[in-house]
Amino acid sequence: MILLKKKRTIVIKEPCLRRIRNNLRTIILKANTQIQLRILDEIERIKQIPDYYENHPPELLNKVQELYDKEKQIERIKRASILLCPSCFKSDKDMTYNPVRGEWYCTDCYAKLKKGFTEEGQPEQFP
Ligand SMILES: [Zn+2]
Repeated sequence: MILLKKKRTIVIKEPCLRRIRNNLRTIILKANTQIQLRILDEIERIKQIPDYYENHPPELLNKVQELYDKEKQIERIKRASILLCPSCFKSDKDMTYNPVRGEWYCTDCYAKLKKGFTEEGQPEQFP
């Protein structure tokens, strides 16, 4: 994961390029979801092993925890990425990077959040 130091907005005006960007985001998000589902399926498969609930074998418990951690990490990376806005979850928008939070927000949500945090006396949250 690359963390930027400055606020940055990426706007694509050309409709054809917007469509390509949106389709790429959709493909990456779908692939990401497939990976997460495979991990969750693996967790369920391990939990079906009769010994899992009866004896709590450490190797199985550790493996399940490791898989949960991996799935959570993928989700964290996805939410911090430019693929979708963590506020409205839309993936077809121009995005602005918030260096304080290390996340990309769509320009609409960024403007709303900036206004809200400024009114609450925390303008540093959304520069
Ligand atoms: Zn948004």
